[in-house]
Amino acid sequence: MGILVDNVSKGFGDFKAVDQVSIEVKTGSLVALLGPSGSGKSTLLRLIAGLEQPDSGRIYLTGRDATHQSVQDRRIGFVFQHYALFKHLTVRKNIAFGLEIHKTPKARIANRVEELIELVQLKGLGDRYPSQLSGGQRQRVALARALALEPQVLLLDEPFGALDAKVRKDLRSWLRRLHDTVHVTTVFVTHDQEEAMEVSDELVVMNHGRVEQVGSAAELYDHPASPFVMSFIGPVN
Ligand code: ADP
Ligand code: MG
Repeated sequence: MGILVDNVSKGFGDFKAVDQVSIEVKTGSLVALLGPSGSGKSTLLRLIAGLEQPDSGRIYLTGRDATHQSVQDRRIGFVFQHYALFKHLTVRKNIAFGLEIHKTPKARIANRVEELIELVQLKGLGDRYPSQLSGGQRQRVALARALALEPQVLLLDEPFGALDAKVRKDLRSWLRRLHDTVHVTTVFVTHDQEEAMEVSDELVVMNHGRVEQVGSAAELYDHPASPFVMSFIGPVN
């Protein structure tokens, strides 16, 4: 199993942001975490990443108990809605950043960076600065940077949320194709049901800090069980 979240809860004061959540993400699969704003998606992602500690429950990554592992030891690739690219660094340098911190040999870094630039289809743009790129191109740089250290898990929090509709749609199918090549265990957070259905192998639907429904897009269409799923599919007769 790529990721196993076992009965995890996380509260802020009296408020339970994540309430007894259990999910499984198969190795190499792409699971969409879908739910309305405030349903606990980002908190759950931060718990998986080790950016938050659970009040109770356990988190396993590739079969190992990671509940008390540091963020670094978990080997996570993370992409957020707002590109956290370094403005003063070129595309190449942004992608190389993590590799340089880990003191990877220079020749190896150069090779890996070119490989990643090709993977995210930014050939010819390696010497540009983030301000010289479109929003979609910036998120592709962020993705390349997240993949640079060959993470055991890739976590994407509304990565296309700040982009306009047309670019979003293009990136959706692009991400799907990329994942078919890279096969890294991925959790993709979104509040957009179309996006979640198109991109993922399986969906986990959250609402009010709880998992309401789990299934493939087809299963959700055939058996919309949870209130949130019914809100966009409607009950079947
Ligand atoms: P989502 O990503 O689904 O929109 P979040 O996980 O960001 O939801 O937030 C779930 C709920 O937890 C929200 O009501 C939010 O205000 C609350 N919350 C998240 N982080 C914190 C925090 N650090 N302190 C207090 N409340 C928080
Ligand atoms: Mg969020």
